[in-house]
Amino acid sequence: ARKYLIAGNWKMNLNSAEGAELAKDVVALVGAQTDVAVCVCPTFTVLESVSKVVSGSNVQLGAQNMHFEASGAYTGEISAEMLRHLFANFVILGHSERREYFGETDAIVNKKTLAALAANLKPIVCIGETLEEREAGKVNEVIKTQLEGALVGVTAAAADALVVAYEPVWAIGTGKTATPEMAEEVHAEIRSLLAASIGAEAADKVRILYGGSMKPENADELLAQENIDGGLIGGAALKASSFAALVESA
Ligand code: 13P
Repeated sequence: ARKYLIAGNWKMNLNSAEGAELAKDVVALVGAQTDVAVCVCPTFTVLESVSKVVSGSNVQLGAQNMHFEASGAYTGEISAEMLRHLFANFVILGHSERREYFGETDAIVNKKTLAALAANLKPIVCIGETLEEREAGKVNEVIKTQLEGALVGVTAAAADALVVAYEPVWAIGTGKTATPEMAEEVHAEIRSLLAASIGAEAADKVRILYGGSMKPENADELLAQENIDGGLIGGAALKASSFAALVESA
């Protein structure tokens, strides 16, 4: 059975003191949680303060991005090893905001995914269609291209570490959530694409998160779906009580 994962993507919010405060509240509410995996993903500058706060609790740490090279002349970039040094064990990769504003392609997401796995970081690989693509009936096509593009060279051995997040772009920060049926349809499709590439047994172990305006009011129904194994939470992760309520829903 797959263990649910509730991951908070704090995006470009909070300084190191504010992040530590939020993390303290999260630890107080769900730090002893063992049934559900919990992870918070602050900005790079906030990782260290949050790392200290969550240390010793069951709240894990993730980053929002990384570079695929280990070190070198890559001004402004951060490597997987640097994240490991701060005790991060997850990293969000290929978020739609990175694809849209920072030119990340499937090929780049693929390099990052392989580098994360090699460094023992669990990649949370984000995929999802835009509203335009959905209206044009291209959901499955987009999902297939992004998923296969991100996972070139990823084998069944990575199944326990690998996390895929389905985040329909039109549902992010808009208050519009995919209905549980809409989401489940895509999650089931993702699982069958995974089965075709790494085998059914391995595909069964991969956690597939839903992301996009997930909040305590809509989480129960989404998380009840067979192939929805948790959530990648934006706005609602910035409030400890909402985030904790989502953990309790899982
Ligand atoms: P919201 O929960 O704010 O819609 O953001 C979702 C998201 O992009 C998480 O990565």
